Amino acid sequence: MYGKIKDHLQEELKNIKEAGLFKAERVIVSPQKADIQINTGQDVLNFCANNYLGLSNHPKLVAAAKEALDSHGYGMSSVRFICGTQDLHKTLEAKIAEFFGTEDTILYAACFDANGGVFEPLLGKDDAIISDSLNHASIIDGVRLCKAQRFRYKNADMEDLEAKLIEAKDCRFKIIVTDGVFSMDGNTAPMDKINELAKKYDAMVMVDECHSAGVVGKTGRGVTELFNIRGEVDIITGTLGKAFGGAIGGFTTGKKEIIEILRQRSRPYLFSNSIPPMVANAGIAMFDMMAETSELQDKLHANTEYFVEKMIAAGFDIKPTKSAICAVMLYDAKLSQVMASKLLEEGIYVIGFYFPVVPRGEARIRVQLSAGHEREHLDKCITAFTKVGKELGVLK
Ligand SMILES: *Cc1c(COP(=O)(O)O)cnc(C)c1O
Repeated sequence: MYGKIKDHLQEELKNIKEAGLFKAERVIVSPQKADIQINTGQDVLNFCANNYLGLSNHPKLVAAAKEALDSHGYGMSSVRFICGTQDLHKTLEAKIAEFFGTEDTILYAACFDANGGVFEPLLGKDDAIISDSLNHASIIDGVRLCKAQRFRYKNADMEDLEAKLIEAKDCRFKIIVTDGVFSMDGNTAPMDKINELAKKYDAMVMVDECHSAGVVGKTGRGVTELFNIRGEVDIITGTLGKAFGGAIGGFTTGKKEIIEILRQRSRPYLFSNSIPPMVANAGIAMFDMMAETSELQDKLHANTEYFVEKMIAAGFDIKPTKSAICAVMLYDAKLSQVMASKLLEEGIYVIGFYFPVVPRGEARIRVQLSAGHEREHLDKCITAFTKVGKELGVLK
């Protein structure tokens, strides 16, 4: 009977709303891009998408998707190992490996699945997973599904990581797991130091490149390019749902034996559908574009540099960033919400974050830059921030 739990859920929903934590959806009626229309009729500039390279509505990707609809149909109606593998999936997997300088790749429906399905097939109770405290929810869930012993080190803290490696020294296999870029601060994991510690203590390294692939490093190859350790990381997971076109799809890429075992045993791969041909073909077109030129990375890096510099000059407190994420620190939860809604009135779409998404007392507005932004978009955003910042007493 639904009655009892219905009352309970209504109470829960009421509590969420009263705590100011209720998540409502804003409805966009245009394609995803720098300037979007929302269903209130308002035109706004989008500074909160993961559309780092501006590819979500790129004509080449749209054309590749349409082409595949005609040549390869709409859906696969199967998991990969039964009858859900087309030439497109194999080609895309090879292109991903080429992009990251790895040996082989396995596709998933999403990176949430890649992370959910990576640990359990590889590690058991005699092994250790040593995980950064700010790692993504999907890594945390993946670790929960695995019997390995768990160790957690403070965000990007190499002393603490070393202490945990020492604690785990008697385990059979050890793996250090980290996000490449942490999504709330925009900092990168110190991959060079992680790599050194991994060598010293005989551990493997896994990095989740969701916010870094396509974005960091001179040509966007991610944190292994940025830290000059290309090909040295054992496991990379990533998404096609952010910089790489933003549709859907995840992957694990790395050492070939690891990928082979995942094809045999990774549950989200074995028991969930293949990505549709149009997504695979658009992904191929996207990686072809990346192989040709890094002009989108150049533009993104220039945009980020310009924006951060101007915001600091305007007097804002900006977290040091190594990515396309710029955290404008406000420290006050309510202020972050008021400021974000006032910015929306000014035509700037950004989100304010506060506890528990970020630590208590560290509320902020997160601005995400994109190669899809033009200089005039950035200037409008900075002007609006300055105006609202003065109104709310954030700026003197
Ligand atoms: C977005 C994100 C994911 C999930 O990716 P999806 O493909 O959307 O499931 C996983 N890890 C990190 C670090 C992310 O930022």
